Amino acid sequence: MKLEVKNLCYSYGDGDALKGIDLEVAEGEFVGLIGPNGSGKSTALKNIYRGLKPDSGSILLDGEDLLTMPFKKSALKMAVVGQENEVPFDFMVEEIVAMGRSPHKKLFEIDNEDDKYMVHHALEHLGMENMAKKNYLHLSGGEKQRVLIARAVAQESDFYILDEPTNHLDISYQMQIFDFIRRLNVTVLSAIHDLNMAALYCDRLYVLKNGEIVLSGTPEEVLTEENIMNVYGVRSSVTTNPITGKVSITFLPAGINK
Ligand code: ADP
Ligand code: MG
Repeated sequence: MKLEVKNLCYSYGDGDALKGIDLEVAEGEFVGLIGPNGSGKSTALKNIYRGLKPDSGSILLDGEDLLTMPFKKSALKMAVVGQENEVPFDFMVEEIVAMGRSPHKKLFEIDNEDDKYMVHHALEHLGMENMAKKNYLHLSGGEKQRVLIARAVAQESDFYILDEPTNHLDISYQMQIFDFIRRLNVTVLSAIHDLNMAALYCDRLYVLKNGEIVLSGTPEEVLTEENIMNVYGVRSSVTTNPITGKVSITFLPAGINK
């Protein structure tokens, strides 16, 4: 098992944000974390990537206790991609991608040929070689997100933690980013806002509501009309798309009856 989270609890001080969550990600799986705004997705991911320290519970990464692992070691094992607008970097694109190399290096060690190669390779992989010298803050949302993914690629980790990586992006960029990540053949745990994207890309889903995992299973098992009503309080029509073979969700406005 790549990741095993057991009975994870976390509180920001005013009520429990995570009330004992259990989840697992197997090697090679693409696992989605869905749930309404404020349900605890980002809090769960931050506890896993060590942005927050759990109040209780255990987290194993590759069978090892993550909470006592040296930070440098855990930083090598997980690449984290957040939302593009949450990263106020005033740096050149290639400098941000080079940050992905830092867990490989000693403090103040300068970039060697391997690092330079990996940064170039990562930018090329995302079709961004010509933007290497541009200021990150001047890029569009889709370009910024590609830079953050290039940073993850430069890190050479085989486990990606993504927090709604395609929020605020046009549909073409959403597809491009998820297609790209899937082609990397890495293990993924991703918070995903859009249920149709979750259905298209995830092997399995966990549903968070009020800090608890209320459902888990394949997209077909989880994304039923009844579950969507119970978790999100909206009516929907769920069908299987004949081309993708995946479930497809249409939300029903008031006045349209089934
Ligand atoms: P999601 O990512 O599913 O939208 P979050 O994990 O961001 O949910 O939030 C879960 C709960 O924790 C919400 O009630 C939110 O208001 C609260 N919360 C999130 N971040 C903080 C914070 N820094 N301080 C206090 N409460 C927070
Ligand atoms: Mg969030």
